[in-house]
Amino acid sequence: MTQKLRRRILELETISMDLEPSELTRNEYLIHIQDFANRFINGMGSAKVYSHEKVNDESLLIDGNKKTLKRVIDIYAKEVAGKGITAASGGHLGYIPGGGLFTSALADFLADITNEYAGLYYASPGAVTIEKKVLDWMKTVFGFPFSATGSLTSGGSVANLIALTAARDHHNIKPEKIRYSVIYLSRQTHHSVQKALKIIGLEEVIIRYTDLDENFRIEPGRLRKQIEDDIASGLNPFLVIATAGTTDIGAIDPLRDIGEISRAYKLWYHVDAAYGGFFILTKQKKELFRGIELADSLVTDPHKGLFMPSGAGAVLIRNREAVFHSFQYTANYMQDSVLSGQEVYNPADVSPELTRHFRALRVWLPLQVHGIEPFIACLEEKLLLTEYFRNRLNEKGFMTGPVPDLTISYFWYPAEKTDQDSCNRRLLELILQDGHVFFSSTIINGKFVIRMAVLSFRTRLGTIDKAIEVIQDARIKLDKELSIQ
Ligand SMILES: *Cc1c(COP(=O)(O)O)cnc(C)c1O
Repeated sequence: MTQKLRRRILELETISMDLEPSELTRNEYLIHIQDFANRFINGMGSAKVYSHEKVNDESLLIDGNKKTLKRVIDIYAKEVAGKGITAASGGHLGYIPGGGLFTSALADFLADITNEYAGLYYASPGAVTIEKKVLDWMKTVFGFPFSATGSLTSGGSVANLIALTAARDHHNIKPEKIRYSVIYLSRQTHHSVQKALKIIGLEEVIIRYTDLDENFRIEPGRLRKQIEDDIASGLNPFLVIATAGTTDIGAIDPLRDIGEISRAYKLWYHVDAAYGGFFILTKQKKELFRGIELADSLVTDPHKGLFMPSGAGAVLIRNREAVFHSFQYTANYMQDSVLSGQEVYNPADVSPELTRHFRALRVWLPLQVHGIEPFIACLEEKLLLTEYFRNRLNEKGFMTGPVPDLTISYFWYPAEKTDQDSCNRRLLELILQDGHVFFSSTIINGKFVIRMAVLSFRTRLGTIDKAIEVIQDARIKLDKELSIQ
């Protein structure tokens, strides 16, 4: 009986051993990956950034059969890397450009090889301590006390979700209170905030959109007046949300004024700095972030301002008890993980996740290997590139939006005697047809504009010169089309 069992187990082992490639095979695999990575990175400068070609569904089908890694990588190159927006490219100047540091990719490789369990200190004290060090560094950057807590998330959306849950719990917004509780935000607040409010059961809460100044920033005077009026009419204001770098135009709300108002009325102060946060590291912009240290919770995305690959967000929360209310749990099967009498940081206590990616390494390793200086230089470079870009556009006769706080701005072609919106829509189409740079669009004050966001670490002077060339060519084509009409 036992013999038969042993034989069958060994039979299965020979098949399942395919999951543990030999050193020889591992080296072959690594060479294929390395070849692809080099080809991709070396070719990115001249390759198109955008392709609207459809994905060939068939070739991505899981049919259960073995294929060589080489073949799989070829499929990846064609169907994945080659279609849609090349997020890793410097020519990506739309939405919020992605990063994709090589050293982050190496960190992911390491983290996956040793497969650290990054939810609990007990399981991997090293991994969890690295996460804590990343958070401690961020606390220093943003002027938070070390007693604050936080966690690294998949991105700004989940980070907002965690922060807003803590705000809800700290102010004890139970169902019976929701209908007369008030949250203050702006029309420029990122939609992930609204999404988070719905998810955490605050859909019925009263939302006040505070008036904005001409640069789309919250007007503190108006905010104060709204809060006072709401208190006078018996409502329950509890949360104010400011943005440090709005998605449409990169504006920074007056953080200090809003923070002081929030404190005065004992409201939870949340700052969404997902896009803009790390510009605090630059000499030019530091001042604009004054008051961010007053926040009760703060969201920032290393996968934006620190150029990490997608899947690196962060949340800081000043009051640990507030966040533990909803996120800290114990269970019988977890009893071994509670170290007796020791207070340790467990990321799982500040996150909806338990088993989670050791994402701290992809932030920590690049900061160790490169040091902080190139990151700051890169952010300063992006600020200057934005200024340069806007100047060049103006020289060429394009209109640009107001001087931006950070690196998001917009432009339009002031075509005469024709509908400007459809004209600029067409201009964007022509730019995307070329495909060497990518822009997205937005509506500002009811007007269609082409939006530019300079944040990829690979966007350099040459990229902007190329962008100007592409835009000029598109405009010439557009002019021809208009003259034929
Ligand atoms: C990008 C962004 C978000 C959402 O973050 P994800 O990382 O995409 O989930 C939230 N707020 C602001 C201001 C952003 O720029």
